[in-house]
Amino acid sequence: MGRPGSPSSVQWKLSGPGGPADRGREGGEAGALGLDLSASSKGSRRLIVLGSGTSTGVPVIGCECAVCRSDDPHNKRTRSSVLFQFPAGNLLVDTSPEMRLQLVRERVGLVHAIAYTHHHVDHLFGLDDARMFPHKLGGPVPIYCEAEVEETIRRVFHYAFEASTKSFPSGGVPQIEFERIGPGVPFEVLGQTLTPIRLDHGRFKVLGFRVGDLAYCTDVSSIPEESWPFLQGLDVLILDALRVEPHPTHFNLEQALGVIERLKPRQAYLTHLSHGFDHRATGSTLPPGVALAYDGLAVDF
Ligand SMILES: [Zn+2]
Ligand SMILES: [Zn+2]
Ligand SMILES: [Zn+2]
Repeated sequence: MGRPGSPSSVQWKLSGPGGPADRGREGGEAGALGLDLSASSKGSRRLIVLGSGTSTGVPVIGCECAVCRSDDPHNKRTRSSVLFQFPAGNLLVDTSPEMRLQLVRERVGLVHAIAYTHHHVDHLFGLDDARMFPHKLGGPVPIYCEAEVEETIRRVFHYAFEASTKSFPSGGVPQIEFERIGPGVPFEVLGQTLTPIRLDHGRFKVLGFRVGDLAYCTDVSSIPEESWPFLQGLDVLILDALRVEPHPTHFNLEQALGVIERLKPRQAYLTHLSHGFDHRATGSTLPPGVALAYDGLAVDF
């Protein structure tokens, strides 16, 4: 990358001593549901945190606070998104307004499929740049989402669905095809099984995703009772923690730590972070096994 010391040059390997084998598993509830949530190709998958910031990004436009003025690259947070790198290809979760910059930064040349947590602007508005993929894919980009997300995409990106643009050369408008998913119903993509998990985001309903023993749960303010079994026995949990103060649609730090205490993943990362958190100062106060995520964080699982 040619940016020595930047977050994206840091690769945390989450295996070895202290790994899953050393930790008590609590897969009982999931097992009782007849779900095989365990990894089928452990160690060959990577998750990259493309963006760890809340909807404003950090720095916030016009803000002069210490975090927004910080030189620490860990305090530069683009809007929330993650990329799963599987042996069979790349699955993007959400298309943030900085999607293009995030993929260029991580030198990811191709996205094979996209899954959506929900359709808020900070998770959706980079979608236009997905028009770069069909040429290499040889067809439209599969999009895995709920009905409400599809309706929003068809409205916001209406030009991609109009008859007049169908004849455009590849790369002119996004070419996508929708695949319906729903909470608690595992689906296959790129040779992997993903389990969507219903989460409450204020009065809004969103999805978290579990792959093997890793779960990504952003934009969540409470976890419905029926969703807890899907989050048992986690090795890695990436969880929303917007700020210290309470918020109507996001976990604050205390609530996120409470969820982590209950689920006991081996390692937890907090994401969707505001400028209320300084990477170093806040990070040093967190319990063992909990850290702030940052743009470029890579987790092998
Ligand atoms: Zn968000
Ligand atoms: Zn600030
Ligand atoms: Zn949201």
